[in-house]
Amino acid sequence: MATRRLYYDDPFQDNFTAQVLSCRPFADPVAGFGDSLWGVILDQTHLYPASGGQPNDLGKLGEANVVDVRALDNDEILHVVDRPVGTGRVEGCVHWPRRFDHMQQHTGQHLLSAVFQERFGLPTISFHLGESVSTIDLSGHQPSPQILEGAARAANAVVFEDREVTVRYGTADEFARVGVRKQVERSGILRAIEIAGIDLQPCGGTHVRRTGQIGLILLRGCSKIRQDWRVEFVCGGRAETAARKDSEILTSAASRLKCAAADLYYGLERLLQEREAASKSFKNLLPRLAELEAASTLSSAELCPDGTRLISATLEDAATTEYLQHYATALTRSEKVVALLALKESGSLLFAQNPNPARDMQALLKKALEQFGGKGGGTKDFARGALATPANASAALDFAKSLL
Ligand SMILES: [Zn+2]
Repeated sequence: MATRRLYYDDPFQDNFTAQVLSCRPFADPVAGFGDSLWGVILDQTHLYPASGGQPNDLGKLGEANVVDVRALDNDEILHVVDRPVGTGRVEGCVHWPRRFDHMQQHTGQHLLSAVFQERFGLPTISFHLGESVSTIDLSGHQPSPQILEGAARAANAVVFEDREVTVRYGTADEFARVGVRKQVERSGILRAIEIAGIDLQPCGGTHVRRTGQIGLILLRGCSKIRQDWRVEFVCGGRAETAARKDSEILTSAASRLKCAAADLYYGLERLLQEREAASKSFKNLLPRLAELEAASTLSSAELCPDGTRLISATLEDAATTEYLQHYATALTRSEKVVALLALKESGSLLFAQNPNPARDMQALLKKALEQFGGKGGGTKDFARGALATPANASAALDFAKSLL
């Protein structure tokens, strides 16, 4: 027997009485509903089952919590609850904040779809009401920023006019005669939602009574999905939350940049320019610093019996692999220099030599990496690698030194 859908007649009613027709154990592991759940069929309900892009309501049946509501093929509505409900009379209630939020987003969707269609020739092909953001998919040409702004302004103007939102019943032919384009699979008497003077759409969802109750409509983004355009939007309470969070982000960012929120763009632009200039000057100074450090190191380097100067150093602080390379290049510009270098933080290794000593840096690095773990490679004169454990940097250099 079809469950009577009380929300069709009065979506603002949040409690009701119904007869429990059946209550059976229920499981749906795919949906994450494991065990200890029951499926309840009532003669009538105010709880909305997920359908048409609108998620299900939550609520209570007696002491039982309703965790899901589903429309079955035979027109019955299944209430999934967390404990058994006895047959006979039961008091039901709808979790109102969730329901009203859905009503605001859903009615806002009707209005936005009507505006995109009528003003900009962009029909809606699907709608999804998400946990935080809702979307409509539009087919046709790309909505420009001007179109998106125009649609938001036009929809909000209808909100401010506080037009009536009413339910109408009729056949598909009757609706087609008054301009309803949407094709509906159901036959017989259909239910449609009318926004006075704006839109008439077949729909079985829950909606507010007047456009003013939708509250502010904000468009939050537009992206291409396959051949269509997905517009993200929030209405009412969600728009208030989104605007407040935006404002908090802007205010704290402006405070960090020490400028007014309205000047944030210019503040950010200035910061990026400064960063670019600083990075450029840093890059220019790096080889010059490496030359100076190399000169100082070479002047005090110990001389091996064969006349080779061996430099072995683990660099700390802010040294980078880029600096390591400049430093090694500067050191090995002098004859008979072998440089075994490491970075303490990252465990990077760089073994280099002036071509004059006939040693093999690549082979030396390979042995050190075999001993301590890591990877790398290079040539006879210049080999780079990275240790698996940076803490082994000094030990790896000592090991390599002992092999020379
Ligand atoms: Zn609807």
